[in-house]
Amino acid sequence: MTDAATSPNETYVIVGAGHAAGQLAASLRQEGFEGKIVLVGEEAQLPYQRPPLSKKYLSGEFGLERVYFKPPDFYDAAKVETRLATRVTRIDRDAKTLTLESGDTLGYNKLALTTGSRVRKLPILGADLAGTHYLRTVDDVDGMRSGFEPGKSLVIIGGGYIGLEVAAVATSHGLKVTVLEMESRVLKRVTSPELSGFFEEVHCTRGVEIKCKTAIAAFESGSDGKLAFAVTADGEKIPADIALLGVGILPNTELAAEAGLEAQNGVRVDEFCRTADPDIFAAGDCTDHPSALYDRRIRLESVHNALEQAKTAAAAMCGNLKAYDQVPWFWSDQYDLKLQIAGLSTGYDTVVQRGDPATNKFALFYLKDSVLIAVDAVNAAPEYMMGRRLIGDRAIIAPERLSDTSISMKEMV
Ligand SMILES: Cc1cc2nc3c(=O)[nH]c(=O)nc-3n(C[C@H](O)[C@H](O)[C@H](O)COP(=O)(O)OP(=O)(O)OC[C@H]3O[C@@H](n4cnc5c(N)ncnc54)[C@H](O)[C@@H]3O)c2cc1C
Repeated sequence: MTDAATSPNETYVIVGAGHAAGQLAASLRQEGFEGKIVLVGEEAQLPYQRPPLSKKYLSGEFGLERVYFKPPDFYDAAKVETRLATRVTRIDRDAKTLTLESGDTLGYNKLALTTGSRVRKLPILGADLAGTHYLRTVDDVDGMRSGFEPGKSLVIIGGGYIGLEVAAVATSHGLKVTVLEMESRVLKRVTSPELSGFFEEVHCTRGVEIKCKTAIAAFESGSDGKLAFAVTADGEKIPADIALLGVGILPNTELAAEAGLEAQNGVRVDEFCRTADPDIFAAGDCTDHPSALYDRRIRLESVHNALEQAKTAAAAMCGNLKAYDQVPWFWSDQYDLKLQIAGLSTGYDTVVQRGDPATNKFALFYLKDSVLIAVDAVNAAPEYMMGRRLIGDRAIIAPERLSDTSISMKEMV
């Protein structure tokens, strides 16, 4: 039995009510914690999954009940007190209290920060016109979906995963979509020119217009005061009934930083999700954590990271140290394509293609100094699954073997 299981009078507070928070609450009970758990979240909803927001929730295939992280009755059953629509504004580490926006205070014995991230806002003229949207929350999608009518023009700023997923849903709904990307290609921040080129072609074939090396300068309204044009830095005016700004996120670190915890590119934690304060832990998008696999500190924006760090943090809060050392993985759904990504390709020196992109089923393997560091797999589950395992093993595999489809992925091991 852990220390925490013998502390039924203690209160553990979780700040944030996203993926990491929901998992952390469940994991604290699994670890045997019998005390009080309070989950405080700024949004009005119980913890929900964000990935469907740019996919099946946006398309209307999923209702809200399908995106909840746990069924609503889980929280009562697990004796987790939820305080929603409640923002925490301050941590007093000496008094071990939190200040809420209402001015009330809440005491804690141990605290978990799962404050996630927020969208990066573009400070340009017209960005607040009716018809312009960001996408992070259920409320954001609910606000945007009503404009999703066939024949309308949607301009997406930013050719990252979220922008391209929304482009796929919108095009399938009969909207005319233009993507403006400042860089020389879409997905430049996260992947290789080969994968970017594949997705650019996929979207162009479906009628999406992608304009790279094109920065947005402003949005202009029509005579009704609503959005009418996206204006590029070159002065081009693109008709727009709706616009989505998808230009990245910023980790929510202010609460930790103002309490004197180190938080530059995320709240700094060790491999057990511990901050420098022995009673404060952090998990998910908001953390800057060590990666033994890549031998550097990283910050990830992924569901898998949020879930696994939450388990690590809950265990550590209960005095049970289990190091977090996972191969990062992500996914993106666009049209009938499932992209699965394992590892981080940053710094690769060799890319190996396996399969033919023309068949919409292929994988790109990334090597650095002959070691496999990442894989992008399109409709190619075995390449993703085995690739992930091989990345974790720091495998050295000859490029000609990886590209040879007559050798099965199982035989690569
Ligand atoms: C549209 C979209 C699609 C995505 N698709 C994928 C995908 O396909 N695959 C994938 O792996 N990942 C995807 N992601 C990323 C993934 O959803 C995030 O990595 C994950 O949600 C992180 O979970 P989290 O709990 O760390 O943070 P969050 O989900 O950001 O939750 C943090 C919560 O804390 C709250 N909060 C912040 N500060 C305070 C405060 N002071 N007081 C109270 N509450 C506070 C926030 O309001 C928020 O509700 C997607 C994200 C989005 C937005």
